[in-house]
Amino acid sequence: MVTRKAVFIYSPELEKYSYPPEHPFNTIRPKKTREIVSSMGLLSGGGRSEAAPVPVDRIVLKKFHSARYLHALKKASPRRWDAEAFDMGLGTGDCPIFERLYDYAVLAAGGTLVAAERILAGTADVAFNPSGGFHHAGPERASGFCYINDMALACIILAEAGKRILYLDVDVHHGDGVAYAFYDRRDVMTISLHENPKLLFPGTGFEDEIGSGPGKGYCVNVPLPIGTYDEAYMKVFVSVARPLIGAFNPDVIVFQLGADALAGDPLAHLYLTNNVYVDIINYLLSLNKPILATGGGGYNIDNTVRAWALAWCILCGADSEGPVNSNVGSNGIKQHGGLRDEPLSVSVQQRDTVTHAIEATIGAVKASVFSLHGL
Ligand SMILES: [Zn+2]
Repeated sequence: MVTRKAVFIYSPELEKYSYPPEHPFNTIRPKKTREIVSSMGLLSGGGRSEAAPVPVDRIVLKKFHSARYLHALKKASPRRWDAEAFDMGLGTGDCPIFERLYDYAVLAAGGTLVAAERILAGTADVAFNPSGGFHHAGPERASGFCYINDMALACIILAEAGKRILYLDVDVHHGDGVAYAFYDRRDVMTISLHENPKLLFPGTGFEDEIGSGPGKGYCVNVPLPIGTYDEAYMKVFVSVARPLIGAFNPDVIVFQLGADALAGDPLAHLYLTNNVYVDIINYLLSLNKPILATGGGGYNIDNTVRAWALAWCILCGADSEGPVNSNVGSNGIKQHGGLRDEPLSVSVQQRDTVTHAIEATIGAVKASVFSLHGL
């Protein structure tokens, strides 16, 4: 096998920042992920290396965000209420203003852009920034715990270099900020698999949101019912995402790996184990294209950390089935041996309900976009 150049993006500098203690978004997850993969010896040798994030500079930020928004974000202070900032989503319960918010937002996002630069330079075949994945941020809006949309910025930079990009989003929430950034473009195909938006933030991402103008058919949304389990999820992925990805034939894959679709996540209602991510990553690797992967949601900390450590194992070409010396507990999903979750049992009623719903979704997505790709 050809050795893959795999870059893990992290810096202890990231540990200086945190959302307020009551907020679900926990900045400890990348650190814990790194601890596990480091204990497994998976940060060096065999083509593996580490890189530190670099804060995104203003010129790059303005490729997606407005000057007005960046100004408000930079001057935001937890000690001062600002009506104009609040109007752009800053200082809400979801997007609180905390100490050195701007520094955190541009550093965490910067890791994703370092990953993009490495891929463009050919010094990375795969790169993983577990501190990235802020897919909800809009050009002039903080939203859903996200302030700087690193995913949109990375896709813009890769597209400027002439790349055709597949943006694949498996976070349980619709990747709205990225989908709408490229809604009328055909050089960035966005595919988001997420929980039914009737039931979950941000309330968008229905099957009939398929892009517009030249981008028609290049925005793909796959809403999933409560209780969606591994087998059903992979059926959707194989039936819908794989043919479209194959037809699109991207140059680069940008993969938002929010882990909040795992069973036991306190903010959502899907029923996956991390084995799904292994299957998806193995498929993406089989395409033999560069992969820029990031974190994202994931509010059961232990399950999220284990999923991301497992994802790195697969991305960097290591066997994940060996025992792992970590203190990560099961907390909702049992694990066996290494980092993989044990399969979860699915009741007959759950199976029937989920199957019925996903068959309808598969049919709807196929009907609306497949013909646009000659499928
Ligand atoms: Zn999410």
